[in-house]
Amino acid sequence: TLGTRHCGSTLFRRIYLENCVFCLIAEKKLDSQIIYEDDISLAFKDINPVAPFHVLVIPKKHIRSLGDVEDFNLVSHLLYVCNLVAQKEGLTKGYRVVTNVGDDGGQTVFHLHFHVIGGRPMDWPPG
Ligand code: IMP
Repeated sequence: TLGTRHCGSTLFRRIYLENCVFCLIAEKKLDSQIIYEDDISLAFKDINPVAPFHVLVIPKKHIRSLGDVEDFNLVSHLLYVCNLVAQKEGLTKGYRVVTNVGDDGGQTVFHLHFHVIGGRPMDWPPG
């Protein structure tokens, strides 16, 4: 995590994690519209949807981004959940899964998440 890697201080790490908005959502300390949950993942509605359907799928464990993943079985599970929620919501005409990594990737919340976006035709390329 950011704390142990950049600072090495347990206190810093604790403060950082306690202020991660998606950790707070995973711990139910912050309200969200949860549409799927299991032991290791959570899917909830994006607060600022860019399409009629816009859900975020996250690991409950704090991981900064795809660039910091060590266990790719976890990513496999998260992608399974992306497809599950898309099917559950009846996105039969298709959908898009996106994960932004770092500043150039457009990441704004530094807790790994996959956007599941659907309910309208998507443009390509992204901006
Ligand atoms: P990113 O830009 O790929 O990091 O995506 C972050 C996403 O998190 C954005 O689409 C935000 O609208 C969304 N978001 C930020 N805070 C919250 C929240 O508290 N609840 C739900 N979604 C959020």
